[in-house]
Amino acid sequence: MDRKAFKLPFRRQALTKYPCPTCSKGLLKVKKDSFHFKETRSSERAHPHEAWDPDWIEYVYGCLFECTNSECKDVISSSGVGFVSEYGSYDEEGNPDIDWDDYFVPRYFNPHLKLFSLPKETPESVSEEIEKSFALFFCDPSSSANHTRIALENLLTHLKIKRYITSGGRRSYLALHKRIELLPRKYEHVKDILFAIKWLGNAGSHSQREVSPDDVLDAYELMEELLAEVLTNKRKKVKFLAKKINKKKGPK
Ligand SMILES: [Zn+2]
Repeated sequence: MDRKAFKLPFRRQALTKYPCPTCSKGLLKVKKDSFHFKETRSSERAHPHEAWDPDWIEYVYGCLFECTNSECKDVISSSGVGFVSEYGSYDEEGNPDIDWDDYFVPRYFNPHLKLFSLPKETPESVSEEIEKSFALFFCDPSSSANHTRIALENLLTHLKIKRYITSGGRRSYLALHKRIELLPRKYEHVKDILFAIKWLGNAGSHSQREVSPDDVLDAYELMEELLAEVLTNKRKKVKFLAKKINKKKGPK
């Protein structure tokens, strides 16, 4: 997973690093003549202010992206916000100069991007929640993290870990933490990963702290590893990341 690709703003003339959600091979580029953007009203109104600077500017945009893979060329719609920022350049004499350019940050993609690929063995109850998480990644990281937590609950159900306990004739839900502890011995080596995803997902649902896109990307890296371990028997290590999150009992 190329974390940077999903965090950096894009410039409308440049090729983005967003992978095409249809073919996963091409990258997305703004389709010619489809990019529309405008400065917001409150941004325009701020111009007369004596301290005004171009980096106060705020835009909204809408556009179509096209896949660069000539065999795919699928189109994806997107909208979001934008800003102006300086970058280093050179003037005609070759002296260092400062220039301004417009940068854009997506809030929505339709169809949504796929931030990591799921093994083909992934049960539908899990993949559905991961897809919901992908759809919310750019506009609502907290809800996005929360869906990874639900995916985790559904994975445990798929692994036949019980969801309820019955005592005194009353049935009640088992806490996720408890369910992870109930995993049989053969999953001992992935428990840390499950706990780490749980902490990140908890932050998403209880919101004592704002969940950042980086926190969700952490959850995706852990989930990618977990699904490969549990569903496909591939072995890789993200134990370091899991350890850090578990130590903090929340996003690092
Ligand atoms: Zn494509």
